Amino acid sequence: MADNNAARQYDYLVIGGGSGGIASANRAGMHGAKVGLIEANDLGGTCVNLGCVPKKVMWHVSELMEEIGLYAEDYGIELTESPKLDFGRMADNRQAFIARLHTAYKNGLDSNGVELIQGYASFVDPHTVEVNGEHYTADRILIATGGRPKRPNIPGSEFGIVSDDVFKLKTLPERIAVVGGGYIGVEMSGIFHGFKVDTHQFIRKPKPLHGFDDIICKGFVELAEAEGKKVHTNKSVKEVRQNDDQSYTMYFEDGSTHETDQILWATGRNPNTDSLNIEAAGVNVYPDGYIEVDQYQNTTVDHIFAVGDVTGRVELTPVAIAAGRRLSERLFNGKTNLYLDYTNIPTVFFSHPPIGTVGMTEEQAEDEYGKDYIKVYQTTFTSMHSSITRNRQKTYMKLVCAGVEEKVVGLHGIGRGMDEMLQGFAVAIKMGATKADFDSTVAIHPTAAEEFVTMKG
Ligand SMILES: Cc1cc2nc3c(=O)[nH]c(=O)nc-3n(C[C@H](O)[C@H](O)[C@H](O)COP(=O)(O)OP(=O)(O)OC[C@H]3O[C@@H](n4cnc5c(N)ncnc54)[C@H](O)[C@@H]3O)c2cc1C
Repeated sequence: MADNNAARQYDYLVIGGGSGGIASANRAGMHGAKVGLIEANDLGGTCVNLGCVPKKVMWHVSELMEEIGLYAEDYGIELTESPKLDFGRMADNRQAFIARLHTAYKNGLDSNGVELIQGYASFVDPHTVEVNGEHYTADRILIATGGRPKRPNIPGSEFGIVSDDVFKLKTLPERIAVVGGGYIGVEMSGIFHGFKVDTHQFIRKPKPLHGFDDIICKGFVELAEAEGKKVHTNKSVKEVRQNDDQSYTMYFEDGSTHETDQILWATGRNPNTDSLNIEAAGVNVYPDGYIEVDQYQNTTVDHIFAVGDVTGRVELTPVAIAAGRRLSERLFNGKTNLYLDYTNIPTVFFSHPPIGTVGMTEEQAEDEYGKDYIKVYQTTFTSMHSSITRNRQKTYMKLVCAGVEEKVVGLHGIGRGMDEMLQGFAVAIKMGATKADFDSTVAIHPTAAEEFVTMKG
């Protein structure tokens, strides 16, 4: 007779089938470990279902709509009527693509011998978790439960939607207010604006994209102004009330109000640790709910690990994947010193145009090396893409260099194509390239990217 308890004992139990969990589970399986992956919802986690993937599909659509509106006529393209978005058809095609990804992820798990356990996991003790009333034990456990959107703590914040809900919309509102100046707020307001929704973005701080280099904040604001995007800074929402006609009135700290049909709260995220009964595992959690880990992704309990958004460090898919894979290489393939280096991680924000950044901001470099040891190269120009059109879209770029050798320690830009040009420059920066290396690289003409290798002091 089969021994059910023995069947539920694993070398490695992974809680969370998102970017980090799947990557780590697959890699452990490849190295022969007996792996169980517990996922409460659809495979792929935030990135595939409620983040990067559906967002990027909508960004492409929105970009295309905006391109047509801003440039088609001056390019001599005659449109017999203005483009109209069939939002429902786009959403259906997007979800069909995501369904194909679910199948691909399941096939990947199967081919690595990873067993999928469907349901919510909570700890019973440091080696045991419970899912749907069943107990599963393991020598090692990975927590990769990610995070979820958070609403502000103000009256009326129950009205409106969060980023998860954007991907469930069947129709577009006529007017939307996006609250938040971080990347989700910036990306979502850009998408809705491109969809021709009357979009207002409200930012609590004096400028958007807090923590980013000044050239990006400046470029973002100037481009928004030039292209009729409504970005309001120093606007702190104090209360929301619903009106008789189902619209909302937003009340701000400065006494002003704003009426809208939909509100999107892009006001931060919370880690998914509260439903894990994590006290039973004995793992240390910070007051804001993020799990404490060291550089090797070890928690404070020696056989329990954590990767990805739940650790609150650089919340990006490739970061969760890289940390998850390195961890499995360390645990199951003898690479005992392998860990993820969190420096010089490139990031793109899919605004219109996109933002790309890697390395230190000018301010961070000054703090690190001292003002006298920093040299900054920057440029603002109109790329050829809009050279014959009335909308002359600018591109902003900056290189932050340190020391006498002028090592490039930061590269920042906002402009068309920045999303695709960043990856290669990130390799150069990771390898320690200097300004002289950039200068000695022959430019590709005519591109916007060539400006990064032709900047003069
Ligand atoms: C709107 C939006 C856009 C984004 N765009 C980008 C982008 O363009 N590029 C990029 O790199 N990153 C982007 N991100 C961030 C990216 O999605 C995350 O960094 C990434 O998904 C983190 O992976 P993870 O494995 O840590 O967690 P997740 O992918 O969130 O996976 C966690 C999984 O754990 C499951 N889970 C939670 N609790 C339990 C439990 N108790 N039991 C079982 N399962 C559980 C959840 O259902 C989920 O599937 C975006 C995020 C958002 C919200």
